[in-house]
Amino acid sequence: MTTTRFAPSPTGYIHVGNLRTALMNWLIARKAGGTFILRIDDTDPERSRQEYVDAIREDLEWLGLTWDREERQSERLDRYAEAADRLRAIGRFYEAFETPTELDLKRKKQLNMGRPPVYDRAALKLTEAEKEKLRAERGNGVWRFKLDHERIEWTDGILGEVSIDAASVSDPVLIRGDGQVLYTLASVVDDMEMGVTDVVRGSDHVTNTATQIQIIRALGGTPPRFAHHSLLTGPQGEPLSKRLGTLALRELREQGVQPMALLSLMARLGSSDPVVLRTDMAELIEGFDISRFGAAPTRFDVNDLFPLTARYLQGLPFAAVRDEVLALGVPEELAERFWLVARENITTLNDLEKWWALCRDGAEPLIDEADRDFVEQALALLPEGPFDDDTWAEWTAAVKAATGRKGKALFMPLRKALTGMERGPEMGALMPLLQVVRARDKGR
Ligand code: GLU
Repeated sequence: MTTTRFAPSPTGYIHVGNLRTALMNWLIARKAGGTFILRIDDTDPERSRQEYVDAIREDLEWLGLTWDREERQSERLDRYAEAADRLRAIGRFYEAFETPTELDLKRKKQLNMGRPPVYDRAALKLTEAEKEKLRAERGNGVWRFKLDHERIEWTDGILGEVSIDAASVSDPVLIRGDGQVLYTLASVVDDMEMGVTDVVRGSDHVTNTATQIQIIRALGGTPPRFAHHSLLTGPQGEPLSKRLGTLALRELREQGVQPMALLSLMARLGSSDPVVLRTDMAELIEGFDISRFGAAPTRFDVNDLFPLTARYLQGLPFAAVRDEVLALGVPEELAERFWLVARENITTLNDLEKWWALCRDGAEPLIDEADRDFVEQALALLPEGPFDDDTWAEWTAAVKAATGRKGKALFMPLRKALTGMERGPEMGALMPLLQVVRARDKGR
């Protein structure tokens, strides 16, 4: 059965970059009727925080990316220790004692000689007595996985055929001197034991994948299918890394971006298929095909989310936003009408407030000097109310008959007088909402 996972480290909020990873894995699982696991990669106790775990869950729920299982690496440390023992037993795990400074020096020397900065495996030559001595002096060493120096190859769901020379990669450290298990080992053990069949992640993980394939095989497993999506850049191709804080999902939510707008964009950005606004998950799942994605860096412009959000909202029936509309204080009997008028004139739901304020409080009239008499004459003709769908048409017809004005010269000064704005909702539909103002003014 198809099983995928989203495996964030709870060291920060999810942003548009990791959303892509989450979404692709989710879509693959849902399309196949499989399982989607939320795996919290929290083996680093110093950087992991419960508040981020909660935030990750909340953000995924907001998006509707539901998971079938949740796992936490910090609860599985015994499984990783057991795998480490197996690697030791088959001679693929060795202890190394170089300090970071020593490693740095080695790398610099190699680079000076024009060689790739790959760990030289000096630790493999240490005798037991030497290791004892180093342990006594420096504490426990790190544990490195001994790569087989062959080409590591796989067919990547996005990159196609990948071939990496293992000799060009340092033997990865899987356990730190203080005993902390590192992601590379924990992830492999989890993927194997949880039956993960497909792993989609960013192309910054390609080298990890090469080493993980060897570790999985050394542990007697079969590697999953891998796909590495390109990394996002800003609109001009600039790295996004520094701006990711402002592109956190909760930040976008705050700004009023709608989940379906975000998901629609992310499910297609970087693929050869056009971005299509989806209104439900079934369509999103149906229209997803990972093989359509390319390896080139993907440009992302946060501004693209707003027109999509606006279009999404324009199509929403009142029932979908009832709570939000009522929360503004719109009386129940006007709420649906208010929504149908306002939805044509908003980018996000945050904009509803200003339209409701107009209906509730009225506006400071905007009257050009040249129109002063005209507006005064027109307002005298404004019916008592209650206003209905015909009020605008009847009123403007009466004003036209009385003043001889027509077209824009007729309508614009009236719009500006009533709304204080040159643009906005269709006046005919707005009038019955403005009666709130009228009723209040009369009551004074
Ligand atoms: N915790 C890892 C990360 O956030 C997971 C990578 C993976 O999907 O294997 O980069």
